[in-house]
Amino acid sequence: MPSAPAPRLRADVSGLPRYVPGRAAPSDLVDKLSSNENPYPPLQSVIASMGEELGRVNRYPDAKSSELIAELSASLAVPPEHLVPGTGSLGVIKDLLCAAVGEGDEVLFAWRSFEAYPTLVWAAGATPVQIPLRDERHDLEAMADAVTDRTRMIIVCNPNNPTSTAVHRGELERFLDRVPDDVLVVLDEAYREFVDDTDVPDGIELYRDRPNVAVLRTFSKAYGLARLRVGYAVAHPTVAAALRACSLPFGVSGLAQAAARASLKAEPELLERVRTLVAERTRVTDALRAAGWSVPDSQANFVWLRLGSRTQAFAVACEAAGVMVRPFGDEGVRITIGTPEQNDRLLKIAGDWRM
Ligand code: PMP
Repeated sequence: MPSAPAPRLRADVSGLPRYVPGRAAPSDLVDKLSSNENPYPPLQSVIASMGEELGRVNRYPDAKSSELIAELSASLAVPPEHLVPGTGSLGVIKDLLCAAVGEGDEVLFAWRSFEAYPTLVWAAGATPVQIPLRDERHDLEAMADAVTDRTRMIIVCNPNNPTSTAVHRGELERFLDRVPDDVLVVLDEAYREFVDDTDVPDGIELYRDRPNVAVLRTFSKAYGLARLRVGYAVAHPTVAAALRACSLPFGVSGLAQAAARASLKAEPELLERVRTLVAERTRVTDALRAAGWSVPDSQANFVWLRLGSRTQAFAVACEAAGVMVRPFGDEGVRITIGTPEQNDRLLKIAGDWRM
């Protein structure tokens, strides 16, 4: 090892909480129900769209994702200048933080929620303020009470990862009415397509008359493109322009743009798969409850089992039986809804597990 002094880095970086990604499945024989992925492989039309792109990988992609934006604009009834794609919705969250917060600022979100939030907020130099969930749900009253002069952004994960619950229209509207106009509220709707409760509002409807609301969506979950990394924000022009200014140039690859566009074209078929997963969610939830488990109502493509001190033991037992689930400390286990066969195997393990 060289003895020269190390370069001077940001003093706080070595202490940042690390985002711990789900492990890869050790083999195809294992059911990977640990990363909220879509269990179905890409459609042939989506694969074909990327085939053409493969012959062009020596060229940079369209930096503006113009065609993808035009097609999203038509499909969502949102002006194109309100749309900003990025490298997965994770990339978009990072860009939003870059656009909105700096040192000394606070970013509020519920906890437990998506594990990447604290890491990305710290990395942006700001301070995360984590408001405990109440009964596995966002406590929006407590979140509004926690707003200070230093609060610059609030993230509402709806439905919430990992607890699967969603906030309802009335409570979210009351919350938005209480948040000062100069605080950006980010509605992270990574799982929006799996919502079937009509009381859960569509963030895109809420953002329309609220300039401080931005909505995040992704092609990773319902559209099954997790490996390609493409998501987007819907925001009013001032926020969208700041977000674009902070975006990584060429952050959305040509393959990702092509596959996302082909997925929009194949939306009816993909949403049919989503309906199958939602029906499976109901079946899995009912079966778990019938076996004595307490399961919150899920609006996402996963269910949550609060297991406390038995969390790790349950995850180990699942893995020994060939099913990977995601344990969170000593809080609980998140289980992604898979194919009916995968779900059957999970239910068998859960049924045999001694509570
Ligand atoms: N938000 C939430 C709530 C998530 O659960 C995830 C993925 N687990 C993401 C954002 C990131 O998704 P992606 O970067 O793949 O779009």
